[in-house]
Amino acid sequence: MNLHEYQGKEILASFGVRIQRGIVAHNAKEAVAAAKQLTVETGTGWHVIKAQVHAGGRGKGGGVKLAKNLNEVEEIAGSIIGMNLITPQTSAAGKKVHQVLVAEDVYYPGETETSEFYMSVLLNRSTGRNMIMYSTEGGMDIEEVAEKTPHLIYTEEIDPGTGLLAFQARKIAFNLGLSGTAFKEMTKFVAALYTAYVESDSSMFEINPVLKTSDNKIMAVDAKVSIDDNALYRRKQYAEMRDLREENPIEVEAGALGLNYVDLEGNVGCMVNGAGLAMATMDLIKQAGGEPANFLDVGGTADAARVEAAFKIILKDPEVKAILINIFGGIVRCDRVAQGVIDAYKNMGTINVPIIVRLQGTNADIAKELIDNSGLDVQSAVQFQEAADKVKQVLA
Ligand code: GDP
Ligand code: MN
Repeated sequence: MNLHEYQGKEILASFGVRIQRGIVAHNAKEAVAAAKQLTVETGTGWHVIKAQVHAGGRGKGGGVKLAKNLNEVEEIAGSIIGMNLITPQTSAAGKKVHQVLVAEDVYYPGETETSEFYMSVLLNRSTGRNMIMYSTEGGMDIEEVAEKTPHLIYTEEIDPGTGLLAFQARKIAFNLGLSGTAFKEMTKFVAALYTAYVESDSSMFEINPVLKTSDNKIMAVDAKVSIDDNALYRRKQYAEMRDLREENPIEVEAGALGLNYVDLEGNVGCMVNGAGLAMATMDLIKQAGGEPANFLDVGGTADAARVEAAFKIILKDPEVKAILINIFGGIVRCDRVAQGVIDAYKNMGTINVPIIVRLQGTNADIAKELIDNSGLDVQSAVQFQEAADKVKQVLA
């Protein structure tokens, strides 16, 4: 589950990670009040207005702007709230901005130059250990750094038995070229950040930039935090932070029904049991000249109610021109699934797109008979290729 920047920062701060402070505002008036309050609390004269959407690259899209007085706060907040923010990480349609974070300006001049670093905490799946990835090249697109100057990205793996050790935090501060106060601050920052990652059951932290201020403080200016969905049952306070407006509405509805659904751009809806078969089915659709409109794994129990729910979800996508049902009857018997398809079809009245059903496995022959004799506009197939050919026919 992804969080907004302000929510991620809230979690970091609760574990003692220094952050650029800010207050959320939903309209220009609230933004001005927030700016005034921040000035009282932090002494800042300038403020940064930051769009809160689930997408990075907001700065590039015009979603992060500096305001040098309260008039500018009002003006900038007013123009960012309600805007459709398009960044390199959103779709072409962009994301609607419902709120901004009014933050203290932390790039103030002082005794030393400010510097921006990159830091993330994530799981290295090949070693099964958490790692801290970091770089001197902060503030920019890390994918670009990885491509052009990969030697400037360092990683530090953490042994789960010992946790992050003090020497590792020092090594990170050293590799980032820090010394004196900033060095000590960085070791504290890294230790607190790692504790926050583990204790919040996060699956990813990305702090870009981590800032060294002109007075040698180290702080998180940005925060991309993802909490592990499987841990939300025991992290209720984070589960409550979920912002459904940021998620695909069809996916949200499917999730509530227990269906594993991912919305895609294509025109052939798929209903499959098992993630592997679902992937293979998507390949099959591509080979037949179509594009999958979704990934949908109905799971082991493809009874009538589930099949009907899945139909409804698939048909919410207006792009769908055909539906391919590809079910392997291992645990579930094919005739049950076939009956489920027929019942669901009848319950739904009219379905205006052609349906191709391939049922393979236990009682596949009975299932085919049921479909063929149902009198409904549903085509059955036994072989994979046959199903592909039928998809091609209906799309032609
Ligand atoms: P992103 O573009 O979505 O990654 O949003 P960030 O939170 O990383 O902000 C984008 C950029 O805005 C940063 O890389 C900074 O250069 C700049 N920025 C953020 N906070 C401040 C600030 O307090 N003062 C100034 N002058 N610039 C800031
Ligand atoms: Mn950033």
